[in-house]
Amino acid sequence: MRIVLSPEERLELTMAYQLKWRRDHRGEIKAYVKQWRTDNGEHVRAWQTTRVECPCGGRYTLANKARHCQSKKHEKCPREELVYI
Ligand SMILES: [Zn+2]
Repeated sequence: MRIVLSPEERLELTMAYQLKWRRDHRGEIKAYVKQWRTDNGEHVRAWQTTRVECPCGGRYTLANKARHCQSKKHEKCPREELVYI
């Protein structure tokens, strides 16, 4: 017998499976991320220290882009072209 699921039910099942998988493999994921950050330290440092000038007039580091894009200052930003400084 084949069970037919609606798209919503399939999405719910998939998300539940992914959550369980992440919970069950938490240690492996943590070790992998730690190793990746060690291997790519230069990339991480560049991400944390590269300053960007936004068309809205604001400045931020790449690590803080998400926070800047949610700020009041950035709300009136005319375009999304960035200038690396
Ligand atoms: Zn901005």
